[in-house]
Amino acid sequence: MADNKPAILPAMITMKCPNCRKGHMFVNKSIFPLSGMLQMPEKCESCGQKFELEVGFYYGTGYVSYALSVALYIFNFVWYGVLIGLSYKDNSIFYCLGISTAIVLILQPWLMRFSRVLYLYMFVKYGKGAALKTEE
Ligand SMILES: [Zn+2]
Repeated sequence: MADNKPAILPAMITMKCPNCRKGHMFVNKSIFPLSGMLQMPEKCESCGQKFELEVGFYYGTGYVSYALSVALYIFNFVWYGVLIGLSYKDNSIFYCLGISTAIVLILQPWLMRFSRVLYLYMFVKYGKGAALKTEE
């Protein structure tokens, strides 16, 4: 089984089912239309893994996407500081803050999706699925 096991990182980045790493976790492959960007099929089209393990399962992902946004801010400050340079003597802090905010806002739909992916990957392991109440 380990031979043709798809790698976890590419599977997460392409938002594939954590159980089989083949089926898509989201109905729409792109984030457009934005109103449907978080639409998920009830079950994986490939292996039948349930995506919403219980009602309100994704409630906690708000915190995950918040943490990802903060991490992205820090990351932006680091590369900006290294590539362009941050100084208290000019407006570079404000430019950096503006650019970081723009990047975080633009990536927000993706961050919201990715936090769901992270969340489901924490509960569903490859080839094992998750214990489902309905199947016990
Ligand atoms: Zn699957």
